[in-house]
Amino acid sequence: MITQKLQISSDEYAKTVERAAEILKKGGIVAIPTETVYGLAASALDSKAINNVFKAKGRPQDNPLIVHISNTEMLKQLVTDIPKQAQALAQKFWPGPLTLVLNSSKKVAKEVSAGLDTLAVRMPNHKTALDIIEKSGLPLAAPSANTSGKPSPTSPFYVENDLDGKIDAIVYDGECCVGVESTVVSFCTNPPRLLRPGAVTAEQLREIIPDIIVDKAVLQEPKSDERVESPGMKYKHYAPKTESYLVEGDSSFFAEFVNKQENAAALIFEEEKDLITIPKLVYGRSEDESTLAKEVFSCLRKVDDLEAEKVYIHAPSKNGVGLAVYNRLIRASAFRVIKL
Ligand code: AMP
Ligand code: MG
Repeated sequence: MITQKLQISSDEYAKTVERAAEILKKGGIVAIPTETVYGLAASALDSKAINNVFKAKGRPQDNPLIVHISNTEMLKQLVTDIPKQAQALAQKFWPGPLTLVLNSSKKVAKEVSAGLDTLAVRMPNHKTALDIIEKSGLPLAAPSANTSGKPSPTSPFYVENDLDGKIDAIVYDGECCVGVESTVVSFCTNPPRLLRPGAVTAEQLREIIPDIIVDKAVLQEPKSDERVESPGMKYKHYAPKTESYLVEGDSSFFAEFVNKQENAAALIFEEEKDLITIPKLVYGRSEDESTLAKEVFSCLRKVDDLEAEKVYIHAPSKNGVGLAVYNRLIRASAFRVIKL
């Protein structure tokens, strides 16, 4: 298959949006920008298109997709009821990096929810994404536009590396400003539950849902026989080819530990640059969690270029957006954590 390259530019904007929408309306699959990461979009009403998304990504069939909408009217069609607290979250954080899991009205193709009675829905805060949804007139199911297991793509060039020749088109529209996937909150449990941390933080959610539960899969490895609320949590994720370890401890202990490792590289904080003597990549200042989130997946993709046998990643704090970064890194490291 030849993948069309659709470049967003100011003079051709409307035409490019229309082209992407046309492909989607005909049952094609298109990588589109969002504020979190690039998504691989398909009509949520079209089983065949959804199956092609799973195939192109190599995604396990039991890992459901998030449906992207451009207005709240669409939400009302897709779910049976919207609890008050879910409405309050949507009002405060949409459009934005927050996904709500609600009871499905079963209007979408059953493959979208991978057989579950629930549906994950989000309104992205990205003009191009919203315009493509609006122009197509369709709810768009869109998982991250990477090969399953690899780091999510924060630039269209990472999409191209993974999916060129396997999908109908890529919309090129620069880098994603958030960098980690959306926060996922389920209203299908009582009390509501944070299934995946993202740029809408646990602290912000607690202001509206004081008793929200942070699912234990956020920070722990699910047991092989355990039922997980969010099926995506049980899969190997975001992993570079280099064997990675997440290291907790302050800068001086971290530097002392990594500097004596052989054939190793490190993913470090900006302020540690002069302390680390082995090959390294910087993902931002330790106290600037938003920058760490923006850079983390790109760094995980670049780690393999250092050609080390092992990479030691300095763990971020679990505060604010740091929790989302920690959640991705502990998975990238297959739950290998070293506490100094
Ligand atoms: P991705 O599309 O790669 O951003 O992953 C979507 C995430 O949302 C995965 O972790 C899924 O397991 C989760 N998800 C999607 N739909 C549901 C649902 N109906 N119930 C629970 N989790 C869901
Ligand atoms: Mg993904």
